[in-house]
Amino acid sequence: APPGSSKTVRQVKLDKECELRVEVSPEYPLRLRVLNGTAEIFGTEIPPEIWMTFPPRLKFAVFTWYGATIEIDGTTETDYTADETPMISYVNVHAVLDARRNRAKASPSDSDASQGPRVIVVGPTDSGKSTLARMLLSWAAKQGWKPTFVDLDIGQGSITIPGCISATPIELPIDPVEGIPLDMPLVYFHGHVTPSVNVDLYKVLVKELAQVLERQFAGNVESRAAGMEKLWSMLRDVLKNKANVDVVKLHKSGGVVSRNAKVRQKARAFRIREYFYGLTNDLSPHSNIANFSDLCIYRVGGGPQAPRSALPVGAEPTADPTRLIPVNINQDLLHLVLAVSFAKEPDEIISR
Ligand code: ATP
Repeated sequence: APPGSSKTVRQVKLDKECELRVEVSPEYPLRLRVLNGTAEIFGTEIPPEIWMTFPPRLKFAVFTWYGATIEIDGTTETDYTADETPMISYVNVHAVLDARRNRAKASPSDSDASQGPRVIVVGPTDSGKSTLARMLLSWAAKQGWKPTFVDLDIGQGSITIPGCISATPIELPIDPVEGIPLDMPLVYFHGHVTPSVNVDLYKVLVKELAQVLERQFAGNVESRAAGMEKLWSMLRDVLKNKANVDVVKLHKSGGVVSRNAKVRQKARAFRIREYFYGLTNDLSPHSNIANFSDLCIYRVGGGPQAPRSALPVGAEPTADPTRLIPVNINQDLLHLVLAVSFAKEPDEIISR
């Protein structure tokens, strides 16, 4: 509904430990405010009485620990109240992590004990992994920690443009509308929306990102104690045999919205648009004109591998995942997103 049309304003009373699940309409933004009580969106407390505007299509839940009255203005695709949520178990995980951070902080000079928790959130597609990571980060930030968020999801990542893996420190509870702040992320470009297109390159990038983070942690007691929260789509077998690893099974929230391939593709297109034009179309990308002859364009890794049948018996096909393959500049490059490398020589390129 257009802003200002008061007919659509309504109040929702939420009992303690209940949540209002909302899917904003595809066309219009939605306004919402907390009239009384306290409520949070994925771990970030909503300021009292101030109207917040949520963009079309956003899916979120307003949860209250102690009860709240919410006012909404606008039409929604869906909205309903749920009294069964896994929030208590989620906040218990937060409490355990908090205790471990305190322990780490108390022993800054011991290289093992000073390491805060490293959390990997794993689970099937559409199980609420990103949302759980977000809550844990926001609760930690609210307590004054600065955890590092590592997002290894190149298809539906929440830090930057699709096709990348990235990491960023979280210093404040995450804004429910703006999302993860983009001031200082460390980003590696894979260039595809699923690792399977070039698994080896994906592994190289994850390793590289891990090494850079280890180096940063070595020199920073604060981020070391805060630890990191990772998003991973597959539980690796190696974890099972490792001491020092606790596996906690959590329930999926009934509010998590399933997204089919088409919706995911659309979400990616919106993310790319948002990267260049801003959430509310308030940015205009700066264009630079360069001669084709001044540009070198490469594809990293991939490329056709020699088929097994063409190799000597017992030989494994080896393709260097970071091998650079020059790309011809032609029509095929239209509507593709490329990354600009800081490398001075082609052999320095590793997609950062
Ligand atoms: P993927 O497999 O794509 O990585 P995921 O497991 O990370 O997905 P999320 O992105 O956390 O899942 O959740 C999917 C969608 O459901 C998101 O749009 C999120 O905002 C929404 N969602 C999660 N929890 C709730 C809830 N309690 N109420 C309403 N919407 C929710």
